[in-house]
Amino acid sequence: MSDDNVTPMMAQYLEIKGRYREALLFYRMGDFYEMFFDDAVAAAEALDIALTKRGKHLGQDIAMCGVPVHSAEGYLLSLIRKGFRVAIAEQMEDPAEAKKRGSKSVVARDVVRLVTPGTLTEDTLLEARRNNYLAAFGEVRGDCALAWCDISTGELRVVPCPLPRLGMELARLMPKELLLAEGGFTPEDMAVAVTPLARSAFDSTGAERRLCDLFGVGSLEGFGSFGRAEISAMGALIDYLDLTQRGKLPLLQPPQRENPGGVVQIDAATRRNLEITASLSGGREGSLLSVMDRTLTAGGGRLLERRLSAPSRDGEVIGRRLQSVRFLVEQSRLRDDLRAMLRRVPDIDRALSRLSLDRGGPRDLAAIRGGVQAAAGLRDLLTASGAVPDLLLQSGCDLGGHEGLADLLERALVAEPPLLARDGGLIATGYDTELDEVRQLRDEGRGVIARMQAEFIEQTGISSLKIKHNNVLGYFVDVTTTHADRMLSPPLSETFIHRQTTAGQVRFTTVALSEIETRILNAGNHAQEIEKRHFTALRKAVLERAAALAQTARALAEIDLAAALADLAISENWCEPRIDSSRAFRVEGGRHPVVERALRRQGGGFIANDCDLSAGDKAAIWLLTGPNMAGKSTFLRQNALIALLAQAGSFVPASEAHIGLVSQLFSRVGASDDLARGRSTFMVEMVETAAILHQADDRALVILDEIGRGTATWDGLSIAWATLEHLHEVNRCRALFATHYHEMTALAGKLEGVENATVAVKEWEGDVIFLHEIRKGAADRSYGVQVAKLAGLPDAVIERARSVLELLESGERSGAGSRLALIDDLPLFRTAPAQPRIAAPKPSEVEARLREVLPDQLTPLEALALVYELKGRI
Ligand code: ADP
Repeated sequence: MSDDNVTPMMAQYLEIKGRYREALLFYRMGDFYEMFFDDAVAAAEALDIALTKRGKHLGQDIAMCGVPVHSAEGYLLSLIRKGFRVAIAEQMEDPAEAKKRGSKSVVARDVVRLVTPGTLTEDTLLEARRNNYLAAFGEVRGDCALAWCDISTGELRVVPCPLPRLGMELARLMPKELLLAEGGFTPEDMAVAVTPLARSAFDSTGAERRLCDLFGVGSLEGFGSFGRAEISAMGALIDYLDLTQRGKLPLLQPPQRENPGGVVQIDAATRRNLEITASLSGGREGSLLSVMDRTLTAGGGRLLERRLSAPSRDGEVIGRRLQSVRFLVEQSRLRDDLRAMLRRVPDIDRALSRLSLDRGGPRDLAAIRGGVQAAAGLRDLLTASGAVPDLLLQSGCDLGGHEGLADLLERALVAEPPLLARDGGLIATGYDTELDEVRQLRDEGRGVIARMQAEFIEQTGISSLKIKHNNVLGYFVDVTTTHADRMLSPPLSETFIHRQTTAGQVRFTTVALSEIETRILNAGNHAQEIEKRHFTALRKAVLERAAALAQTARALAEIDLAAALADLAISENWCEPRIDSSRAFRVEGGRHPVVERALRRQGGGFIANDCDLSAGDKAAIWLLTGPNMAGKSTFLRQNALIALLAQAGSFVPASEAHIGLVSQLFSRVGASDDLARGRSTFMVEMVETAAILHQADDRALVILDEIGRGTATWDGLSIAWATLEHLHEVNRCRALFATHYHEMTALAGKLEGVENATVAVKEWEGDVIFLHEIRKGAADRSYGVQVAKLAGLPDAVIERARSVLELLESGERSGAGSRLALIDDLPLFRTAPAQPRIAAPKPSEVEARLREVLPDQLTPLEALALVYELKGRI
């Protein structure tokens, strides 16, 4: 064959690849998935595996690499994490079939699945406690909507979503993939993998039909009333699932329409800043979620994340959730019993999803069995207790009704089934007499072989003779070459038929051995077939109850969450918040759960603080002043978190809390670096502040920390000043406003809704001691120099800073004009050291660097970094 000829296999490869240009093609060849050409080069680099060659195509070497099928999941995970999509082409027939068609025909292959970040179902590819969302943004005649689903749990939701709100919704859901119509809008700055789809996928008429087909209904009205944009977005999801799952649609629950007014609005910057579900460094560690997650099931963990990401604005809903937590706080025995059982609850949602996509194995059936067994136990516990509140009672009801399925799975499945149905061994003895008989035959055959070996030893007198098995020869008699001659000559050669000679062994078979082998093989194959049939039937039995099982999974998550929050409330001493529709915000003895945990680890205690922003129908703003490191940011954030926790239906870290429902939560910190987005820090700060001033309504809770820090002092002060006035006069919201501009404390006397508060510090022998106590009133001074001293700035610098400060302050008292003169007179600011008051030697590198530093404007972390830097220069 000439090099330029395309082999039939390559032709098949190229045809399939042509249909999946955007993805890497995993082309199944025996026990491997092979990749060719550019795919091979990209995958070899991404996976750090060897790149080889296989034949030529159009005169060029074909680059190739491959991964073993049995360990493909790990490689898939790496590829998906690196942003690839993978099309998996399987062999669609037995290679023997292809051979029958002629020597040149290739095994039929086709793509069975397109693996993308938003469509994963395998446990190894998913985070157990996180939802894995696929989202789609639809737009129809100016109306926009965002739909999302998690095919690993079956959730499908949609919310009307005008374009400006898209970033906020994406920050809440953190979808792994976002579908957008080709040629439509392209998002900037959104940390999500975007997949463009043809506009036709978003066509709302087609979309409606797809949705109706999927749910087997004539109209979607039974599920609620959906706008065209909402239907378009949901339809695009279904279209994409159809494409990626190659026609096998996952089990989706009926769509739920979220009311945008139903949850507290929290934008991306606020989420980041409050470190709700991820810390600033990006991981879960150090987030609010990580310190409060006591759930015992994966479903409960996912529910907690959803609740924290979208606290409710509905007083009744919150009330019902709190009631469940309170009940379980009081009923400690019941709580412990429930939690002991919850520990054993497997992930029903994900097992169900894999089974529905025909990707599940015997262990998924076992998970369903474990789930329904535990659910029945939990239901018994709940129904045996008196005065169970509504939500728990309802959940209790949703746990039941699976007795038939539980019984079936208990009888049918072995205790610990294997991973794959293919290999058999999943059906319990006693479930099917035919299977038992066939298995007996197979096992007896094995016994016969053991007896046969003993007979052969006796017959040959070779005590080391063994009957062994391998995939090539099947069963064979194995002796060492020392006995070869005897075995190969009569009379033994009449019984033993030579099969193979290796370096040290000679191998034989006998007629009786072949016969028994055939019997064993047949019985084994037969048993496997029967088991496969049972697996299919069991899978079907599970899927018939899919909707009820999904409901049970939701109930389990709800109970798990309530019990987890109760457990947390007791061990951390959290209290039940009072929630109503007033505009109160009164917290007594409030704490920051994450900082408290960190301090406890270091052996320190957290100082609890009160906060009262209740002010009837007026604005209520606390203006917080105090030195760096005193605890201002902590105080601000803890109050925002308390509001968030309360509306998420949790108890709160305080001794008492009364919170009038909050509609929006805003949190901004001055001058946090956002270099990744290429904007100056000040610009980011101003954009975010603008968003608050435009959006905050009179039910918003706003946290502003050091706004204006990113620019020159007077600019910054003016901006902070005007911002505060706007919040007070126009937004009329509840707010905490921390600033280092002492000048602003004068506002408290002018605006009736503004009060001064400060963090108490003690001065002792020139040092500052932080008491972390919030008190009414204004800070007397900023203690920047003392803080710098704490940070380890050299004594000479501290001394110098003190004298400069003194001069500046006395200058301030005598008016700005003289201040400038004084500055001019200070050696530190003079260009020509004509008559220095202090004999200043030529400044060292360290001094030069220090001159640029404004201690007041350093964060503790920056100060520490500076100390390291200075140390490095000496
Ligand atoms: P600021 O915003 O005033 O610079 P932070 O809120 O960042 O100060 O707090 C600085 C440090 O002080 C925190 O990391 C924490 O260790 C400690 N701290 C803050 N608040 C408290 C408190 N209420 N009780 C005990 N330690 C606290």
